[in-house]
Amino acid sequence: MGYAYYELVRNGEKIEAGYGVEAVCEKTGCTEKIDRGLAYLCGKTPGGDKHGCGGYFCERHLYGDNQCGTCAERAA
Ligand SMILES: [Zn+2]
Ligand SMILES: [Zn+2]
Repeated sequence: MGYAYYELVRNGEKIEAGYGVEAVCEKTGCTEKIDRGLAYLCGKTPGGDKHGCGGYFCERHLYGDNQCGTCAERAA
């Protein structure tokens, strides 16, 4: 795996993803610059799966096995 750029559908919305796509952490209030590579993905599958929501978060807002706070809590 490892694509610089691709498109995917998340919650019915088309978004750009890949480590070549600049983004900002999706945690409310966080302005950390990230990219939309798998390293910042909540869960294991772009677009979301039962493991994560498919959101992109900075290192401070990803916990455990690459999950955002909300998903980590739900999995606990
Ligand atoms: Zn999540
Ligand atoms: Zn963050």
